[in-house]
Amino acid sequence: MTKFVRLYSGRSTSQLGEWDDDCSLTDGVVCPLVADHCGTQDKLIPPLGVIFRKKVDTDFRWTWNSDCILTAKAIEVLRDEHVTGFEARPIRAASPRQALPPLWEMVVTGWGGMASEASGIQLTYRCPGCGHLKYSGALQADALVDESRWDGSDVFMVWPMPRFFLAAPRVTTIIRKHKLTGVRAVPLHKLNLRDGFTPGRLSQWMPEERARELGEPLDIE
Ligand SMILES: [Zn+2]
Repeated sequence: MTKFVRLYSGRSTSQLGEWDDDCSLTDGVVCPLVADHCGTQDKLIPPLGVIFRKKVDTDFRWTWNSDCILTAKAIEVLRDEHVTGFEARPIRAASPRQALPPLWEMVVTGWGGMASEASGIQLTYRCPGCGHLKYSGALQADALVDESRWDGSDVFMVWPMPRFFLAAPRVTTIIRKHKLTGVRAVPLHKLNLRDGFTPGRLSQWMPEERARELGEPLDIE
């Protein structure tokens, strides 16, 4: 079984960035049935804008919204090592503490499909009004990935955890070899996934065309 990992913040929460006031969202779906569903499918209109309140100098940076932010060095290493499964989208970033270099958002395009049945994750609710989705938590986190559904990308997403930045074992090796900072490679069996998921829709997390291609057959686009 392949030892997949989750790429995760290696720093304290004080170093997490927050979205700036100029971040704008699409007008999401208005649910005709449940008022609480309004806004749950809003999508950021790029570029992402982030404020880092504390000084941060790592190669990977993260936000409270679980965005993964890359420096030019991080991108160069990943590109040189031919790491597949993501696009780098420029962001707007500011800090009261330091001049910031150009930064990019890691937009995952690699795909691991639906979580495996063996993980125990199941669809528990689909709103007939707006398509809002709820899934049960995982009983067996290390069985999250069904390798027959994985497209082989080094960085990839498994549904319903669009913000998890899953990665193949070689990415762990690359992080260590180049001493990339601000990122940890956490083995899947160490993840606590028992709480369940409300992932929104795939088009909130992937480029539009990719989300349509992958999401339509599964009715999660
Ligand atoms: Zn709804």
